[in-house]
Amino acid sequence: MNMFLEIKDVVSVRDAASFYGLKVNNNGMCVCPFHADKNPSMKVDKRFHCFGCNADGDVISFVQLMFNLNAKEAAIKIIEDFHLGIDTGRKETETQKNKRIRIGKKKEYEKKIREAYLVELKKFHNRLSEIQRLFFEWEKKFTPSMEQWETNFIDRRYSTALYFENRIEYILDVLDYGDDEEIYEEYKHREETIDYYERKITEVK
Ligand SMILES: [Zn+2]
Repeated sequence: MNMFLEIKDVVSVRDAASFYGLKVNNNGMCVCPFHADKNPSMKVDKRFHCFGCNADGDVISFVQLMFNLNAKEAAIKIIEDFHLGIDTGRKETETQKNKRIRIGKKKEYEKKIREAYLVELKKFHNRLSEIQRLFFEWEKKFTPSMEQWETNFIDRRYSTALYFENRIEYILDVLDYGDDEEIYEEYKHREETIDYYERKITEVK
């Protein structure tokens, strides 16, 4: 089947008339766009025929007349407007081809960057969660007894855990629920952040 037959097979003049803004009544009649028509005198169905000016044809010639196109241009317009996915046989120019390849490569590159970012972000999140778990453990394990409270003998791991838990919770919340910018802000400082907590941990261990 050639392109024209394929189009006519799936798009009627009636479809096209409605699509391009003509009001088609229940009898399949509409005001003729090709002569000064007051009352609907054009019959639209698979083909069209005007009883006023005798305009007549199929969907291709209908679109040609409406938009002042040649047959091929009309066919391409219908294919594009109705998303028919029919091969128009239109050849890509060298410039279009290069542009398509360039955009493709750029997207590929952006995708890779994005993926790498997400991997790093996940690592950051995981490490921070580990540190948080350690602090939770410390908080439990080193909770001072009454006696220790009274003698002020409080394990530094306990106070360190208490001191940093909320801050870590906050960062994790940003990573989980923040918008892109907030997440990126934390991400930028991920190495310092992790270094900082790791240092604190070794200091009190
Ligand atoms: Zn007419």
